Amino acid sequence: MAGLRYEQGDIWFEDGNVILVAENTAFRAHKSILSRNSKVFNEMFASPQSADGETFDGCPVVQMTDTKQEISFLLSVLCYVPDNNGVISFPESLPFAAVTSMLQLGSKYAVEPVRQDAIRRLKAVFAADLDTFEDRSYCITTDQDMDLDFVKVELRDAIAVVDLAQSFDLPMLLPLALYLCAQLDPKTLIFGFTDVNGKTWSLSSDNIYRVLLGLPQLRRASIVQQKFVQLQELSPECVSVENCKDILSQAAEDFLLALHDDANPLSGTSWLIRMGLCFPCQGTHRVRINKEREELWADLAKIFELDVQWPPAEEVEGNE
Ligand SMILES: [Zn+2]
Repeated sequence: MAGLRYEQGDIWFEDGNVILVAENTAFRAHKSILSRNSKVFNEMFASPQSADGETFDGCPVVQMTDTKQEISFLLSVLCYVPDNNGVISFPESLPFAAVTSMLQLGSKYAVEPVRQDAIRRLKAVFAADLDTFEDRSYCITTDQDMDLDFVKVELRDAIAVVDLAQSFDLPMLLPLALYLCAQLDPKTLIFGFTDVNGKTWSLSSDNIYRVLLGLPQLRRASIVQQKFVQLQELSPECVSVENCKDILSQAAEDFLLALHDDANPLSGTSWLIRMGLCFPCQGTHRVRINKEREELWADLAKIFELDVQWPPAEEVEGNE
């Protein structure tokens, strides 16, 4: 290679005809491929001032403002992902950091299929309806990876989703993302976290305020859901009064002591099933709790004082 001005990046096509430089690392690619997939590259290469005359290895050099990881990721998407008639298809499950890069770089470089794919994945997890959310809610109370078809997330990623929703005009993601932020430990809630790309995500004080406004309302909803345990409320159709009362009285103390920490009233009713109440008692409380959850879900935007349409208007699936 002529000269040692730049380190050679991991994307380097010997027959490429343009060099992109980020953080002193050079990537060699084909103008035609970049132009075809990205409006921004298309305009950049069409403009006579795109390169300031600098060449490297015989190719014009374009200095980028992104990190070398970002350019590497962008080029790996544009140059390597199979392109079927303009449709860029990705593996089914991607790490969260890859999806955030897809949204950020897809927006910045106007690569619409990449941007839309990222949005589809985020919407699939940060859902706009309670049933979808319930199917995917097991990640909330644990820190385990959520291995979905769309994107692998953990609870703290909700902080990044709040940021992305506000930066990229995706308000439908906000109510659930803030609800999930309300489940975070105080340290993560206030100070955020650093992702695998080295980017630190944190909530603005405005968003922390929204979470703190919502928290007591969520805790209260949990108390309302569970107060039947303390009050020993049975179904009028209870078929095993002594047994059901016994179950509730034995569970009462544990429930009471856990309530201060329960801000997750949308999580579902599997805990109710596990209690072992008779079938009519279970049914009565499940119907009531599900009704309360539906009402809470409908109120999510209000709870966090968000000025967004919620639930969002119906969207036609598969509009990519
Ligand atoms: Zn009963």
